[in-house]
Amino acid sequence: MIRAWFAAFATLAWVASYAVDMTWNRAIQKGSSPDLLKSYRFLTEPQPLAREAIEGLTIARPAFKASLGPGTLFGEDRSTGQPGGLYFEGDARIDFSVSDPVEREHLKMFIGREALSGQPVESLFILPLGPCPDLPLPGVGGYSMEGQADYRRYKNAFHAGGMSWLDTVLNRALHGEGDVAVLFRMDGDVWAYVLDSNETEEVSLRRLGHPPHVEAWWWDAAVSLHRNAAGALTPLQTPSEVGAKFPADVRRIEASMVLDGSCEAMDGTLVRIHMKLLRPVRSLLFTCSPRLEISRLNLAGGAEVPFIKEAFSKKDFYHESHLLVGLPEGTPEDLTLEVRYTAELCFSEFGIVALHDDSGWFPSLSDADGFTFGFSADVPKNYECLGVGDLTDHRVQGEREVFTYDMPEKVRLASFLFGKFKHSKRTAAGIEVDVALPDNANTTYITRNRDEVADEIADALERYTKMFGPIPYKTLKAGLTSGYTNLGFPSMIMLSYGVFNRSGSSWPEQVVAHEVAHQWWYNQVAPLTYRDAWISESMAEYASLVCLRERSGMDTMKKYLSHDFHTFTKLSDVLKKPYISFGPISLGPRLYTTLDPDSAYGAVVYYKGAWTLLNLSKMACFTPGGEGSFNEALKDLVTHSKGKLLSTRDVQEAFERHLKVQLGWYFNQWLHSSVLPKVKVTTKVEGDKLVVQGSQDSKLTLPIPIQTAEGKKKVREYLFFLKPEGSRQEFPLAFKPDLVLVDTNRTCLADYQ
Ligand SMILES: [Zn+2]
Repeated sequence: MIRAWFAAFATLAWVASYAVDMTWNRAIQKGSSPDLLKSYRFLTEPQPLAREAIEGLTIARPAFKASLGPGTLFGEDRSTGQPGGLYFEGDARIDFSVSDPVEREHLKMFIGREALSGQPVESLFILPLGPCPDLPLPGVGGYSMEGQADYRRYKNAFHAGGMSWLDTVLNRALHGEGDVAVLFRMDGDVWAYVLDSNETEEVSLRRLGHPPHVEAWWWDAAVSLHRNAAGALTPLQTPSEVGAKFPADVRRIEASMVLDGSCEAMDGTLVRIHMKLLRPVRSLLFTCSPRLEISRLNLAGGAEVPFIKEAFSKKDFYHESHLLVGLPEGTPEDLTLEVRYTAELCFSEFGIVALHDDSGWFPSLSDADGFTFGFSADVPKNYECLGVGDLTDHRVQGEREVFTYDMPEKVRLASFLFGKFKHSKRTAAGIEVDVALPDNANTTYITRNRDEVADEIADALERYTKMFGPIPYKTLKAGLTSGYTNLGFPSMIMLSYGVFNRSGSSWPEQVVAHEVAHQWWYNQVAPLTYRDAWISESMAEYASLVCLRERSGMDTMKKYLSHDFHTFTKLSDVLKKPYISFGPISLGPRLYTTLDPDSAYGAVVYYKGAWTLLNLSKMACFTPGGEGSFNEALKDLVTHSKGKLLSTRDVQEAFERHLKVQLGWYFNQWLHSSVLPKVKVTTKVEGDKLVVQGSQDSKLTLPIPIQTAEGKKKVREYLFFLKPEGSRQEFPLAFKPDLVLVDTNRTCLADYQ
């Protein structure tokens, strides 16, 4: 279960494009369009090849050069109307180099060096994505199927992420000149250099990760950068650059589910997707659970639309799969797609019915601002169904009951709860909290803690409403998910058994507080790109720290921070290096790597990210903005950027406005570097002065709180800035302390010696 590394959902959409499991993605759902299937097969299966001897050929692209020859160039048949590729055997060398230090360091983790220079590769496959006038057309005729083992391997590699590759190929009219995917074999592995001007991350170097360390085949992005208007490769992207790549604006989704007693979606289930096309796309790529069995796909009230979808192999994986919809010529800009399907949606055992895939039960498409959501469920009598948003209708019709919900606020994800429930209800911050758990002889081990969880949700809601401002929902529902993952959907949080039975997770109340915080961080404001994932996850984690501190005391929070520190400093399973050194927070879900697929993403983005915010909240007290300015900045972001995608830059600027200081250095050192400084600090009282001296082994500037106390009443805190070269600072004392402590609450992320 590869998704266990998520403690929440915020990055699912990005990861989905990398994650495809070989056990099912070769199988294509019955009823897929023969034309699309033909294109898919052309892409993923060996084709007859024409051959030609060449003396020399150079392919130059941003950051990349392939020097070929002498050798043999084989060409796939382009006369079929399919985008034929070129396969090369012979002397082939690769150059690859980028200047971004984080990306160079990340590449080093894969190949032991920061760039490739004249690197011999075993063979090469070139797939033009856009017009490539520098590539020779293969000879016509004389095609044969013989030999070329590596060629088969490359074609096979396209199965991983197969529907995304197909979407790329089908939309080749949108591609820029030179767009290309070059696959090559290096040290036995398949790699790909991709230049794709339709992607927000245009230039990437990917390695096809594989067992034994992972159960799935997965393209790891060893390097991934965006090309700006000036042609420079940079990690930074503006909202308009990101927005320009969305194929459509999804306005509203209406899901009408017909469910049986074990929550299987039956005939009659229909999802309507209302959208406006923003670009002249020929296909749209939806994400959904591989369990969906599409029976019909058509434009509202009209013609059937061709589709192709990966099928579910019955093996229980949690990956999203893709549904690719072909758009016929003349498809109107404003359109409504109607998708009819059946699906085994739920896990149903031990008295529990819960969704296998809490977000993939309907096909969804990412856009900039989300969509409103209508949901109705037609279920057997005496069952209940809770959707996101407000209950607008409930009726009993013979042996069936129909629940109708409407979410008038824009959302990006949606889920539902199904079963025979017992509820615990509370009111907090004007919102009804409703914890719904299955009520039967098998579930007493979770229902006995229902009230406690409801109290924790209500408490977190009250605190966060004060910290971040109100959320626009009338209810906040909570229920059970089938896996180990906890998720925060708009107006609904899904918690694992461990949280409810209070034994599987050692920090159940922290998990609850984290998921409640997603009502703000992700559901009101969401990260612009995967590099900004921390805006959702570090914020939710930081908010949960505040909850722990204010509800259960400083010692509880410190205990949790110790657990975090232990997690990111312990050695990983395969590479035997501390998780914190896998890369900086800004790599987001790319910290997950098939080289060593454990919890680097969680350790860095969640734990280190929260620590970074905790330290900033302390530093804020010593800025011209003063105490309170930190929360004001957060409230400002939630209020004034509601519904928007936020970049790291936006968040930095909000803090700068409210704290009234420049923070470039702070964001740079904590978000874009992976250093854990070793620090030594000593203090001395000299007359009416406090002298603090420190040394460290990093290039970071560390804001370290120093606490002084006289008796129990008089307490005063100072902020000591430890510079890379070491620092000595004197503070005038307000009173003569009998106790001086260095960062006693572990606010600054450092390894104190
Ligand atoms: Zn989360």
